[in-house]
Amino acid sequence: MKASRFFVSTLKEAPADAEVVSHRLMTRAGMIKKLGAGIYTYMPMGLRVIRKVEAIVREEMERAGAVELTMPVVQPAELWQETGRFDKMGPELMRIQDRHERDYVVQPTSEEVVTDIARQEIKSYKQLPKNFYQIQTKFRDERRPRFGLMRGREFIMKDAYSFDRDVSSAKASYQVMAKAYRAIFDRFGLRYRAVAADSGAIGGDLSEEFQVIAATGEDAIVYCPDSDYAANMEKAEALAPQATRPASGKDAVKTPTPGKSTCEDVSELLGVPLSTTVKSLVLATEEVDDQGTVKKVQIWLLLVRGDHDMNEVKVGKLPGFEQGFRFATVPEIEAHFGSKPGYLGPLGLKLPVKVVADRDVAVMADWICGANEPDFHITGVNWGRDLPEPDLVADIRNVVAGDASPDGKGVLAIERGIEVGHVFYLGTKYSKAMAATFLDEGGKSQPMEMGCYGIGITRLPAAAIEQNHDERGIIWPDAIAPFTVVVCPIGMDRSAEVKAAAEKLYDELLAAGVDVILDDRGERPGVMFAEWELIGVPHRVVLSDRGLKEGTVEYQHRRDTAATKVAVQEVAGLVR
Ligand code: ATP
Ligand code: MG
Ligand code: MG
Ligand code: MG
Repeated sequence: MKASRFFVSTLKEAPADAEVVSHRLMTRAGMIKKLGAGIYTYMPMGLRVIRKVEAIVREEMERAGAVELTMPVVQPAELWQETGRFDKMGPELMRIQDRHERDYVVQPTSEEVVTDIARQEIKSYKQLPKNFYQIQTKFRDERRPRFGLMRGREFIMKDAYSFDRDVSSAKASYQVMAKAYRAIFDRFGLRYRAVAADSGAIGGDLSEEFQVIAATGEDAIVYCPDSDYAANMEKAEALAPQATRPASGKDAVKTPTPGKSTCEDVSELLGVPLSTTVKSLVLATEEVDDQGTVKKVQIWLLLVRGDHDMNEVKVGKLPGFEQGFRFATVPEIEAHFGSKPGYLGPLGLKLPVKVVADRDVAVMADWICGANEPDFHITGVNWGRDLPEPDLVADIRNVVAGDASPDGKGVLAIERGIEVGHVFYLGTKYSKAMAATFLDEGGKSQPMEMGCYGIGITRLPAAAIEQNHDERGIIWPDAIAPFTVVVCPIGMDRSAEVKAAAEKLYDELLAAGVDVILDDRGERPGVMFAEWELIGVPHRVVLSDRGLKEGTVEYQHRRDTAATKVAVQEVAGLVR
């Protein structure tokens, strides 16, 4: 590719809503362009990265025996009604109607459609096992789309679905996928951890998430440095000895009426009596723009100490409460926060929160708004989830760093992760609901055993950047870089030698199968270098008159602090 023909479009400034480095850098490097909240165009530079991610995933899926198909993005509601998900799924499921007022959904995932295909196509045990996958657009009307491609509403997912004749065969299919996932994430060159995840009622332990380690990750993961134990926080908490907390996550989500929340509403929402002792709670306020994008999140932490009198309350504003937390008295808190509408009042002072363990724990999840005074309300309050501060999340959880590991092999540590993949044994949940059966060897009709396996294709590049960047820009792992090498001739327009040498090198690299871009735009060296450093191309070769006289070019890896002189013939060897 030649830069003059390609589309290179970089920005000095990141958009104001870009909170994390991957969002800032992908936008500045011209990889993505926002169209609406959580909806992005993959620009030519970004699309090259996505295509490389897809190619690796596709290769490993095929190696693992999965077969590709493409299912429709728009799916008739009837199928979703068969499993009950049309009604049961919350607003994340995008429901639309056609001109005849027939209901449809925009696929957030595709269990229903693939099960419908299986029940029509698979009649006999002889056709099993089968694993179908697609790499396709998904839409989830996320409550809080943010961080660019990391949590989009429209995004690309690889979703695979396995069909087996019995449980043991289904478990074997699951293990094949879990192994393929390790192979895939190894190839991306990222630090990641496979962690046990909640598998719901079915499936026992057969649910794992693949988490890329990053401080900005939305998930807390719990692991033991001295053993193989690793789980996401939900799973770790479910296993913790004194886990008496009420259901969290999706099951616990209830939405109060905005503007009308009172003490009573709160206790009803949480399902605890008004007089319940408060041990701790976490609150956040957020400002949302017209598009529904969160512009500013302020996290406030109120840890209530003591029992009923609640005279001492620990207050912190996160981030930026310089001294960390301190204890404040009730009058102090009222004076500080109480008079500012829109900020939290002395919330928690009268607020019921369930005692969960004998240490401070936040028990609430995804709570939208509320108040502790009649007619005084705060919008956009979220309880105990989506906290960006890793240490504090650990601090308020039922499972904390230093707890004994459940396997007895050491103590637990906690870090943040970005969920880039998920493998899940489903059992017969969908096949039974949709009568997807086959005839077994004895001629008896049996429901198919299923598994589902997702990878966030467009989330992955964002996760890669969270791990690989510096103050100058992105540093792509070779496997998913938009281009592997950039050839930068200096003074190409003035020097016939430079032009000829650059084009020769470019042709040679292309012939050797190297993904190379030649910057033939005639930019000044400083501008040209800064641009490619921002874009994050891992290898750079600079040609100049002076170097060519000695028969050398300058080679620099994106992580190197200085360039090295190398003979032109050596370049191909360095970049492969
Ligand atoms: P999350 O916990 O981040 O909301 P999820 O558990 O809802 O993700 P799955 O249903 O397991 O997601 O989907 C499979 C994969 O799709 C996830 O592991 C993730 O990598 C990706 N994914 C899910 N939601 C999004 C999104 N809103 N934007 C980008 N990728 C996503
Ligand atoms: Mg989700
Ligand atoms: Mg998840
Ligand atoms: Mg998941």
